[in-house]
Amino acid sequence: MNKVKFLGTAGARVVVTRQLRASGGIWLSLEGTNLLVDPGPGSLIKCFKSRPKLNPAKLDGIILTHKHLDHSADINIMIEAMTEGGFKKRGTVFAPLDALEGEDPVILRYLRDFPEKIEVLKEGGRYSLKNITLETPKRHQHKVETYGLNVKSGQISVSLISDTRYFEGLERYYPGKVVIINVVRYQPKEGLDHLDIKDAEKIIANLKPKLAVLTHFGMTMLRAKPYQVAQEIQERLSLKVIAARDGMEINLDDY
Ligand SMILES: [Zn+2]
Repeated sequence: MNKVKFLGTAGARVVVTRQLRASGGIWLSLEGTNLLVDPGPGSLIKCFKSRPKLNPAKLDGIILTHKHLDHSADINIMIEAMTEGGFKKRGTVFAPLDALEGEDPVILRYLRDFPEKIEVLKEGGRYSLKNITLETPKRHQHKVETYGLNVKSGQISVSLISDTRYFEGLERYYPGKVVIINVVRYQPKEGLDHLDIKDAEKIIANLKPKLAVLTHFGMTMLRAKPYQVAQEIQERLSLKVIAARDGMEINLDDY
């Protein structure tokens, strides 16, 4: 089965630090290849608390879209878990350069030899991992180096629009049949590098994906009830739009 599982749907500092939603990232299984995207705080625990359990030693890759803590807090322990404590050299880690070098690298140096490979994400990047192709078509407008993702395998295509300020033409980089959008804000807020719900609606209206999934909610989105907000957009656009819940699984073979 090809699936996406949400190990967390929290976005931004208040919702994450108070754990109003979990923040374990997104687990993707495509044609037997397992990928974990953005292992935020609690990712390891959420893997083992999942039903059925998700075994990190079965991961083929871990992707960081950017190094902010809500996306990266568990990156090191997940690298250890993927490599069985560093005893089994396996898997690929994908991360922007500033997660590896510079002032505040988030990936510890002592475990950089544990995975088989570390790939540095770049704008226009195209990578392969077993039967999956991964693209990072565009650098996002966010405080640290950030990329969205297109993940493809056979007939399956999933796009993940990670944290960014909206910019003209953003959506044309993300043609997946299933599009996951990080929507932190309900109302727009000047000077914030995040999408709000109006941006998300515009993106969905332009892309017309088979399924749009809203996630990575900040406080204003939680107060507005993501389920209702998604339903309203779905009715206005006559397109399938849902709000992610912690632990929610989507069968990608349906799209
Ligand atoms: Zn961020």
